[in-house]
Amino acid sequence: MNRSGTLGVAVIGAGRMGADHVRRIDRVVSGARVAAVVDVDAERAEAVAAGVEGCASFTDPAAALAADGVDAVLVASPGPAHETVLLAALAHDLPVLCEKPLTPDAASALRILEAEQALGHRRVQVGFMRRYDAEYVRLKALLETGRLGRPLMLHNRHRNVASPPFFTSAMLISDSVAHEVDATRWLLGHEITAVTVLRPTASADAPDGLQDPQFVVLETDGGALSDVEIFVNCGFGYQVQAEVVCERGTARIGDGHALVTATAGRWGGTIAQDWTERFADAYDREVQAWVDATRRGEVTGPGTWDGYAAAAVCEAGVRALRDGGRVAVDLAERPAPYR
Ligand code: NAD
Repeated sequence: MNRSGTLGVAVIGAGRMGADHVRRIDRVVSGARVAAVVDVDAERAEAVAAGVEGCASFTDPAAALAADGVDAVLVASPGPAHETVLLAALAHDLPVLCEKPLTPDAASALRILEAEQALGHRRVQVGFMRRYDAEYVRLKALLETGRLGRPLMLHNRHRNVASPPFFTSAMLISDSVAHEVDATRWLLGHEITAVTVLRPTASADAPDGLQDPQFVVLETDGGALSDVEIFVNCGFGYQVQAEVVCERGTARIGDGHALVTATAGRWGGTIAQDWTERFADAYDREVQAWVDATRRGEVTGPGTWDGYAAAAVCEAGVRALRDGGRVAVDLAERPAPYR
């Protein structure tokens, strides 16, 4: 940190999320500056860094982590590239905000958890930004009052306009349902013990061979069930909705009723088209909270255990999709510092 305590952040990956986080750190968040932008695509790194005063660009993450003025790392490269940079950041004992997934599979996520444990303190926050969304936060607070009794069922809907060309049927779970996996664990305070994936008729509007939509059932160690409709080629908008059914009532979020108009015999509003629109405030709050905690020397958000647990559940989900039936989640024992 410089003399004024401003955190110098290296942003790894200057694609859609990375470039948006660079803008956010530069223009929205206080207490941090973008010290370095890294992308394997040199032109992209240079173009994004050029918009930020005093920001260096790199193609090699290792060089950026060792650069002057870099105090912390925001990882926004694709999931398969996360393990290498996370291990390098931990070797430098640098604080990290890592976009989900922590890593794409449970074994590599466990290696990150173990590397962090070996340091003796938490260093990594995982980008499960729904925990910072105002509606999710309100829902969690309501559940914690106990006014509605115990949660029995959580119904989730997650819809995207269209999937990118590289999206596979497994990625509906590992990339998309990963968010509901974390939201379920966080909202209910339960670990997920088993996954079943049902396959409705694939939409004719989905790319050939893509199993879209899917219906995922998550069982938890607290006895509650959480189901997820994931539909990534719904065509009409980006919707993330959740309803908790408790013993004495229900609570629902994500209806998107921000502005409702009534005119010419009709009423209605607009539907967000993607996550950068729907969760813009959540990303802002997430990054600000990470910067604030990092400057105090703390990690307050979802961490490596949450990233590992989500990876283990998603791995079970991908097996359930492939083989059918109910697949138990094989979770390592939770280390004491993460309880
Ligand atoms: P993207 O493809 O738009 O950008 C990725 C960038 O990383 C590209 O510019 C690519 O050249 C670069 N890159 C690839 N390998 C690299 C490496 N080894 N080192 C440095 N740069 C490398 O992808 P995206 O949509 O921005 O997704 C990035 C991450 O953000 C992924 O982990 C993804 O799952 C996550 N994501 C999270 C959310 C959310 O809601 N939290 C939404 C979308 C994406």
